[in-house]
Amino acid sequence: MTVGIVGGGQLGRMLALAGYPLGLDFLCLDPGADAPAGRVAPLLQGAFTDTRLLARLARQCEVITFDWENVSLDGLATIARRHHARISPPLAALATGQDRVAEKRLFERLRIPTTRWQAVGSRRELTRALSVVGVPGVLKTRRMGYDGKGQAIIRGPADAERAWAELGRVPLLYEEHVPFDCEVSIIGARSIRGEIAAYPLCGNVHGSGVLRLTRAPYGPAGWQRHATRYLERVLTHFRYTGVLTIEFFVQRRRLIANEMAPRVHNSGHWTIEGASTSQFENHLRAILGLPLGATHARGFSAMVNLIGELPPRARLLALAGVHLHDYDKTPRPGRKMGHLTVVEPTRASRDARARALLKDLGVGVRIP
Ligand code: AMP
Repeated sequence: MTVGIVGGGQLGRMLALAGYPLGLDFLCLDPGADAPAGRVAPLLQGAFTDTRLLARLARQCEVITFDWENVSLDGLATIARRHHARISPPLAALATGQDRVAEKRLFERLRIPTTRWQAVGSRRELTRALSVVGVPGVLKTRRMGYDGKGQAIIRGPADAERAWAELGRVPLLYEEHVPFDCEVSIIGARSIRGEIAAYPLCGNVHGSGVLRLTRAPYGPAGWQRHATRYLERVLTHFRYTGVLTIEFFVQRRRLIANEMAPRVHNSGHWTIEGASTSQFENHLRAILGLPLGATHARGFSAMVNLIGELPPRARLLALAGVHLHDYDKTPRPGRKMGHLTVVEPTRASRDARARALLKDLGVGVRIP
């Protein structure tokens, strides 16, 4: 059985690596000849909009999924229509995940607390949004924003001018800046049969908008309960199939939804070693109509992203209990090159390990 993956990044690569033990085959589509998934699975090299290649994917694969939300919605809709391709997660969820305004509307409709926000399409609307939402706030592009790209903090009129000059050419969203205590994410899967399984909550630390550290399980039981309930609402709303992620700010013990991703997620990499079934395997199980695997944690995990350049492999592997994942990418500043995971027997030893790893790697982020 062949699974098509539109997008051949590290997420596609880890999906394929999780699927081989289940006897699955993969075929990826990505514009880059050196796409990380293309090192472990056959690759069709071309644009996400290339209907000829998408049609080939449809012909050769039982189901088509994606490893990035900014793939071509139109391209996928076309092969669903013309070639009856089965696409999973559903395109309606992908459409929502591509547009921050659609996400906010969905959260409001499903009574999931989110930030105060306004859509911004002109300089005048930005002035209005500033007065409605207030300052400080964050101006974000509605589309194609990830890892903190396409964002500017606005604290006053001079910032507004600068942010508009920088971002004003595309549709935007302005939202309140949340002075959060911490950030968390919930990851879960829904299968074709409607079965739902959620993972323990992940505690995430970002630096310059990019995820640096995830710890899981994280936070008190009440946060887990709320996050799981919100996740279930979104999964049920879309009659979703596959893995879905929602990211939250936590402010005074209240969860405030930031965004959703209709896919496996960086904050779920710890599940490879730290959970009974990884997010990647559960995504495949879910989209293929197989029973979902157990999602409980096997200990207390910390996952640290390796960004920009991979330290020497021997140095990383000399660290006791470290699991290294090298995405086989060409180094570039700010690029996610790989990650490390450690699984510890207690919360305290996990947190100590996480601090030591970040120090060792020279990552200067504040850990709550
Ligand atoms: P995003 O691409 O929306 O996930 O933003 C990347 C990161 O920027 C988040 O994980 C936060 O650390 C920070 N951030 C984004 N929006 C806000 C906000 N409204 N208030 C505070 N921090 C934010």
